[in-house]
Amino acid sequence: QRRSRAPSQVAKRKQADDSSEEEEWSPSQDKQTKGDSNSRESYVAPFRKPLTQLTNPPLCVDSNQHGHRLKNSDNQTYQALNAMSSQRRVLISGTPIQNDLLEYFSLVHFVSAGILGTAQEFKKRFELPILKGRDADASDKDRQAGEEKLKELISVVNRCLIRRTSDILSKYLPVKIEQVVCCRLTPLQSELYKRFLMQAKPVETLQEGKISVSSLSSITTLKKLCNHPALIYEKCMEGAEGFEGALDIFPAGYSLKSVEPQLSGKMLVLDYILAMTRSTTSDKVVLVSNYTQTLDLFEKLCRCRSYLYVRLDGTMSIKKRAKIVERFNTPSNPEFIFMLSSKAGGCGLNLIGANRLVMFDPDWNPANDEQAMARVWRDGQLKTCYIYRLLSTGTIEEKILQRQAHKKALSSCVVDEEQDVERHFSLGELRELFLLNEETTSDTHDKFKCRRCVNGRQVRAPPEDSDCTGDLSQWHHCSDKRGLRDRVLQASWDAAVSFVFHQRSHDDQKGLV
Ligand SMILES: [Zn+2]
Repeated sequence: QRRSRAPSQVAKRKQADDSSEEEEWSPSQDKQTKGDSNSRESYVAPFRKPLTQLTNPPLCVDSNQHGHRLKNSDNQTYQALNAMSSQRRVLISGTPIQNDLLEYFSLVHFVSAGILGTAQEFKKRFELPILKGRDADASDKDRQAGEEKLKELISVVNRCLIRRTSDILSKYLPVKIEQVVCCRLTPLQSELYKRFLMQAKPVETLQEGKISVSSLSSITTLKKLCNHPALIYEKCMEGAEGFEGALDIFPAGYSLKSVEPQLSGKMLVLDYILAMTRSTTSDKVVLVSNYTQTLDLFEKLCRCRSYLYVRLDGTMSIKKRAKIVERFNTPSNPEFIFMLSSKAGGCGLNLIGANRLVMFDPDWNPANDEQAMARVWRDGQLKTCYIYRLLSTGTIEEKILQRQAHKKALSSCVVDEEQDVERHFSLGELRELFLLNEETTSDTHDKFKCRRCVNGRQVRAPPEDSDCTGDLSQWHHCSDKRGLRDRVLQASWDAAVSFVFHQRSHDDQKGLV
């Protein structure tokens, strides 16, 4: 029904709440329409017809909604649009360019055909050497060659591309304070973690440069354990690999029915953050996790503490979704917490009713985390925003964060995002994923060999012009609560926090805007 929508409805739809946008052209619908040429035709038609009626250039395409249709030069929309004669073409995109250089090529090719040659030429001249240079095991020579090609590509593309990040908006928004919070594992978590590494031996099954199914599942298991031992309790009951005899170390009388935040460092810190926010502010909170099981746990916690909450469910109709978002965003409504899964995206979701956002687990893909943050720190937000990115100290979660930083550095060159997790891992790096560093307050900080900190205290502030977009080494480093600006986090420190990196988006410019 949605596929055969008339053009007028499409136009109207665009004006509706942007929370409804993502479902409109979701990849799953793409799949549904595949192999069904009739419906695909009508799927494209509402988009194509009004455009073909235009007689005068320039041709402008909002790639924000239709971007993924233009990223592949083989699809019908692309060809339909490309066939139109136009002297000038403008492509506007608000979404990061994802995944691969060929997509990047398609977009550039659309507005400025020939500038990068044909797809085959592009592949040979740019894509292959750049990817080769980025490979984790690339030789110095390959790396250098790749970088040169990247520079060459940028200089060509800059003739037709203007890239603006959200930074330019920041001075029109309230200040955002981003905090990366390292939380100690509880004794139960750390015992389970060590036993798992010893019994399941994930390191021994590693293969060069590839993440096998079994190591992927080990990664998931460890990430879940970092969230809360409840998430792996069933595995313990089954005596699954890595958890033989593990039931014995759970507290006597433990049951999945209760929430027991004190069994997880991060959950305990979250419990404090929520309690402090509730009792000392009128702020609302967005809670994000990669795992539905973790969201279930959040729900238990909320019920136990009598917090009113809503949870975004992937199966919700667009209408229902818009309704709960609107309800949540109205300050007078009592819902205190909005839960969403980082996978179910919430791309386009506007949650400015909240000004605090907790990301309970890190994602491999920095763009996903960025997107989650953009739910609250966006146009219309009036309060200072606080972002809490929780990590378990010394665990795989810190490695994921380090990986993110690495990806981010690469992505700000040309592509806004990088390839899959599997790529660019050397065997050494894979091995390191499975090391538990129990002695540290922050494995990430240790790696910086930071010279601004002496005996665990920051003695030199980050450079004046540093902000959230910079590397964590250029953020404020706190190994005790005195250095924090956020009172809520300060009051939560003793729960299990071992280290905090924090930074602000910009200086407060009240009255200037
Ligand atoms: Zn430091």
